Amino acid sequence: MRKLASLRCINEILPIEGADNIELAKIDGWQCVVRKNDFKVGDIGVYFEIDSLLPTIEQFEFLKSKGTKSNADGSVGYRIRTIKLRKTLSQGLLIKLDAFTLTCAILAGTDLTEIIGVKLYEPPMPANLRGQMAGLRPIFIKKTDQERLQNLPELFTDNAEEYEATEKLDGTSCTYFFNEGKFGLCSRNYELKEEDVTVYCEIAKQINIKEKLTNLNKNIGVQGEIVGEGINKNPYKLKGHHFYVFDIWDIDNRKYLEAPERIEIVKQLQLEHAPIIEHVNIFEKCKDINSVLLYVNKKSLLEPSTTIEGVVFKPLKSTLHMSFKVINNEYLLKEKD
Ligand code: AMP
Ligand code: MN
Repeated sequence: MRKLASLRCINEILPIEGADNIELAKIDGWQCVVRKNDFKVGDIGVYFEIDSLLPTIEQFEFLKSKGTKSNADGSVGYRIRTIKLRKTLSQGLLIKLDAFTLTCAILAGTDLTEIIGVKLYEPPMPANLRGQMAGLRPIFIKKTDQERLQNLPELFTDNAEEYEATEKLDGTSCTYFFNEGKFGLCSRNYELKEEDVTVYCEIAKQINIKEKLTNLNKNIGVQGEIVGEGINKNPYKLKGHHFYVFDIWDIDNRKYLEAPERIEIVKQLQLEHAPIIEHVNIFEKCKDINSVLLYVNKKSLLEPSTTIEGVVFKPLKSTLHMSFKVINNEYLLKEKD
């Protein structure tokens, strides 16, 4: 669950060139434009991350003119996105603590998502992704998810780890698994019916994954991104649909396989792997978030005219650090939904 609304400490306030009424507040790895003099360094504010769908309550009335968005479940609210104000990138929304009557303990990091009633904005699902559910994702399969580096400032300290940097593909995640003799498939949150009209089933047939996993006879979940026509605007201009593996979950040992073993299995199964950018000691190369954000502003390895959605960094060896994603701000600024 993403902490969409939380109490956060303001690390830094910077002026914005040519602006009299606004300034820039830094909160962990995020930067957010605020009204001048609303905050000073060390203040605690209520921070709403991008993709928040804020309830239409009095505190957010000032967002009314921008209109509302709704989720498939009927929840309506104001969508927070990445914008530029006076040529300055602004992500999320920072509001003074006294706007909310809080009864909870005031500690930086406190999650207020449910208390304030914030939902995650989820753009509408294309028809070919809506299938029949066989049930929830089985508990032996790990959910595909990555935390944002902006929320992990501690990673910048004493971290000489080498990471595998792969292109973050903008599609829909899919897991094909084999467990104790049984094959199955899942979207991010649900197990799906094997025979259906969805793109998940279409790909399964296309890559012959059931037979391949059955022959391999290992208890694993092959996780990847489905991209192509009709999926998230098909930024890679692909024909048809493709499945790019980014992780293999070892069901018996409840952990992800390390990169070499994963790549070996992908080869064995004759599948495609998500584009590997390089192996990199990212925190030796980049000492702060802005420098990592510059690093991830690249072109897609699938389609050189397309701006990359982002990069996922996975530690190559130790289990000391977690994997994480860094989304390209150029990509976020282009979001339409
Ligand atoms: P998000 O799409 O922002 O929710 O970020 C997490 C998702 O990125 C995962 O659930 C995957 O579906 C997807 N993803 C795309 N490319 C990769 C990659 N190379 N490595 C890991 N996850 C990826
Ligand atoms: Mn995604």
